[in-house]
Amino acid sequence: MTTKTLLILAGDGIGPEVMTQVKRVIEWFGAKRGLDFAVEEGLVGGCSYDAHGTPLTDATMARAMEVDAVLLGAVGGPKWDSLPFAVKPERGLLRLRKDMQLFANLRPAFVFDALAEASSLKTELVRGLDIMILRELTGGVDFGEPRGIETLANGERRGVNTQVYTTHEIIRIAEVAFELAQKRGSHVHSVEKANVMESGVLWREEVQKLRDARYTDVTLEHMYADNCAMQLVRNPKQFDVIVTDNLFGDILSDCAAMLTGSLGMLPSASLGASDSSGRRKALYEPVHGSAPDIAGRDIANPLACLLSFAMMLRYSFDLGEDADLLESAIKAVLDDGKRTADIMQPGLTAVSTTGMGSEVIAALDRQTRA
Ligand code: NAD
Repeated sequence: MTTKTLLILAGDGIGPEVMTQVKRVIEWFGAKRGLDFAVEEGLVGGCSYDAHGTPLTDATMARAMEVDAVLLGAVGGPKWDSLPFAVKPERGLLRLRKDMQLFANLRPAFVFDALAEASSLKTELVRGLDIMILRELTGGVDFGEPRGIETLANGERRGVNTQVYTTHEIIRIAEVAFELAQKRGSHVHSVEKANVMESGVLWREEVQKLRDARYTDVTLEHMYADNCAMQLVRNPKQFDVIVTDNLFGDILSDCAAMLTGSLGMLPSASLGASDSSGRRKALYEPVHGSAPDIAGRDIANPLACLLSFAMMLRYSFDLGEDADLLESAIKAVLDDGKRTADIMQPGLTAVSTTGMGSEVIAALDRQTRA
């Protein structure tokens, strides 16, 4: 089996605590499933600023470009809040995303049965929910020119941002959507506002053309973004893969995330273009931040970070069976009533960060023995 190279950037706050549990699980996969990972570690965020005066060194950036995948914990915290903008911890993360050209942000929203009651929606609406929201990450209104605030001749001020997409940008994100759908429920909803935006008309036309040319096995539906927001809270289980632009994706992925209850459970992946060997640059990270309010107390939930590692197994290494194994071990632990503080419910068993890692490893052992 070929060695897989992996760069771990645990970051700040609870990042190192949750990452320690991932490292235990990586060791388990090495010992019990023969997965050969060459793991390197580096600094990002506030810890990198403290050591090197920058939130990401050129050397660490270079390693991130070379390895098969990067796994990040979280960055930031009050200690670094007053730093100049250019060296704030978040700049390290933004540089990784920019230099690796990560244009596709995958935000799954799935609900473990044992946690269905934690959702703000009725249990029957979310039990069994499994959606993938795919957000375009490097284009659209966040980057479009012209932008700015100007003062007009009459003294009034005018703010401008530009929503802009090219066919190339639309096609490459739609390709990822169709490929994801082929591995899931074969259903894509493409979301824009073609009723009021030309960029939405182009988006709709290009996604439809691509589907008709290359992905006829996938069902494609188009939906306006406002309707999608409504449908996500009315009947979220109608969705399989949702593909949308940077701005709508920002909003819809947060909305979908909250259907699932807790921030401590949400993984994400950001993918770049494929190289000539078919390998995509990839960064995996939990959705949550560095949670300074609970850092250093061994009470953070490591499951979002562990689920991010499961995404890495699936999307960077095509190890779907191993990803399934890890996800079903996590499900078994939750079914067994083990909870970190953030997802605790009356009558269940409280475990620490380390305790949750041990439970997941014990469940992995049980599953592979059975
Ligand atoms: P946060 O996600 O760190 O925390 C929000 C709340 O959720 C807190 O009460 C926290 O205790 C809780 N929480 C988060 N993750 C948890 C986990 N795994 N287990 C249990 N509870 C958890 O967001 P914030 O408080 O707005 O930001 C704190 C710092 O993190 C800031 O410096 C912010 O800039 C940074 N941040 C970083 C990222 C990132 O690295 N990707 C993302 C968001 C925020």
